[in-house]
Amino acid sequence: MSNKTSIKGGEFVIKETAYTDIFIPEEFDEEAQMIRQTCLDFLDAEVLNKLDRIDAQEEGLMQSLLDKSGELGMLGVSIPEEYGGFGKNFNTSMLVADAVGGGFSFAVALSAHTGIGTLPILYYGNAEQKAKYIPKLGTGEWKAAYCLTEPNSGSDANSGRTSAKLNAEGTHYLINGQKMWITNGGFAYIYIVFAKIDDDKNLTAFIVEKDFGGITMNPEEHKLGIKGSSTRQVFFNDCPVPIENMLSERENGFKIAVNILNIGRIKLGAATIGSARSVISTAVNYANERVQFNLPISKFGAIRYKLAEMATRLFATESAAYRAGQNIDDAYDSLVAGGMDEAKAKLKSVEQFAIECAIIKVWCSEMLDYVVDEGVQIYGGMGYSAEAPMERAYRDSRINRIFEGTNEVNRLLVVDMLLKRAMKGELDLMGPAQAVAGELMSIPDFGEEDDTPFTAEKKIIANLKKAGLLVAGAAVQKLMMTLSKEQEILMNIADVIGYVYVAESVLLRAEKLYHTRGEESAALAIDMARVYLYSTIDKVNVAAKEALYSFGEGDELNMMLVGIRRFTKAAPFNVKEARQRIARKLVEENKYCF
Ligand SMILES: Cc1cc2nc3c(=O)[nH]c(=O)nc-3n(C[C@H](O)[C@H](O)[C@H](O)COP(=O)(O)OP(=O)(O)OC[C@H]3O[C@@H](n4cnc5c(N)ncnc54)[C@H](O)[C@@H]3O)c2cc1C
Repeated sequence: MSNKTSIKGGEFVIKETAYTDIFIPEEFDEEAQMIRQTCLDFLDAEVLNKLDRIDAQEEGLMQSLLDKSGELGMLGVSIPEEYGGFGKNFNTSMLVADAVGGGFSFAVALSAHTGIGTLPILYYGNAEQKAKYIPKLGTGEWKAAYCLTEPNSGSDANSGRTSAKLNAEGTHYLINGQKMWITNGGFAYIYIVFAKIDDDKNLTAFIVEKDFGGITMNPEEHKLGIKGSSTRQVFFNDCPVPIENMLSERENGFKIAVNILNIGRIKLGAATIGSARSVISTAVNYANERVQFNLPISKFGAIRYKLAEMATRLFATESAAYRAGQNIDDAYDSLVAGGMDEAKAKLKSVEQFAIECAIIKVWCSEMLDYVVDEGVQIYGGMGYSAEAPMERAYRDSRINRIFEGTNEVNRLLVVDMLLKRAMKGELDLMGPAQAVAGELMSIPDFGEEDDTPFTAEKKIIANLKKAGLLVAGAAVQKLMMTLSKEQEILMNIADVIGYVYVAESVLLRAEKLYHTRGEESAALAIDMARVYLYSTIDKVNVAAKEALYSFGEGDELNMMLVGIRRFTKAAPFNVKEARQRIARKLVEENKYCF
């Protein structure tokens, strides 16, 4: 680790990363693989054979599954050993989210409990609170829920109306209000509740036990998907919460909510990876078995295209997720080495990579939606049948673009956080943006012909980053203070940044595999990296042009468009052949195999 370059969050926008500085999932050690296998075995033995019963919300079933997973240690992976957990690093907890991700509603219940339910106490609780709650949450004896959203306060989470008033004796806060869409609401014992004390501007967080009293709830919501996940409206009616159950400080609740959601976002990404892996395996298997026109449909180019594209998008987003996960671990190690308290360092390290967390949430959830949609299509009519596996996968995937911050809100955040870091001087965006603007005035550098592996692809990535800087720099200059209201342009910029991050991540993974395992073994990873990269070029081209058209004018616009053309130019690459090679491997292996 010590000889690695220290990487800052968001810096990828202006800097090149060396393949030696990223972690790839192929590098997980034997212990991490064993933890993963334990989770996969648990799903096989306990969850996947009960999906209908889970979705029917059979009384007590989800709780008993959480209890069993607790006995296996699955709920305590990121809990420190002093509280009875395993104290594993961030990327190992990502691997667990990934492994459990194929568990449909069970995955949602588990991740709400271990993530947004448990982590506020682990990272913001005082010693007494941690000692009282964490061991029981780690085993699953107490199950947790997170109560932020209200009927009139969703994306605008700090606008909640739930109130907390100190009682006359000064011993308890009385909480009153209505929370909505509360995952695990029906069976949780611990609720992390966000409320406003008196006329405070910001929320305060409280640890609420069900037995405190004053808690009622509506029946289960009828949902499009994740039907087995308990989702309730929870009402607090003079719910008395002892003053010692305030989490952190008064008015620190919104910060807690935001920071915990950063972790939730990247973990949600990891969960979609596990889900996509199993959907692709199911789809490949069906494509090999289903015969039409005397041939398995997996022989048809149209189907092979889908299989290859599903695998490519999964492989690419997975590369980004574990790259960022390791960045978080490295940042944590260096903060702790610098003397920071462990809980604080956990939060700080994730906060540093909040831009990457938001990108991973968006790109992974959209990857899974693509994968399940094509999964249904490969199944044809059977894709539409509730008797076959794709229907549930299709419905269950959809929520990922909505919770943990909608994808619109996360796209806005990506750009907002980048610009704020630039304004604070933490990230030099304007220097490189001005350099790109200057480059437009000069004669293009065609460079030396260089056929060293990955040189051409790296040049493309560098150019795509320039395209992003060109658009973002021009938008900031032209629109100044009104840019924050120009959401269409912000979405365009977020698209450029997100696609480039994922494309660079998969390319670095392929490069690392090439150098560590040899050309032959890395061949399909290289194919997937190139396929993703080539579609990224077009996506960046469109997003950049759309943005420029909306605020550019005259000669200046023309010059910028010339720049975009220059920065999105690449030598032809036969994506069809590459996808054929990827599909051939999937079809031969009869599963997702990368
Ligand atoms: C099944 C399920 C489980 C959930 N679990 C929990 C839980 O356990 N705990 C919890 O606290 N919450 C939970 N939620 C709530 C979830 O986080 C919210 O639904 C989500 O944050 C969106 O809020 P909203 O539904 O009020 O939508 P709104 O905020 O009303 O958004 C509606 C639309 O407007 C867009 N929009 C909103 N604001 C902006 C803006 N500024 N700019 C551009 N577009 C915008 C959104 O992207 C969206 O497309 C859950 C929701 C569901 C459906």
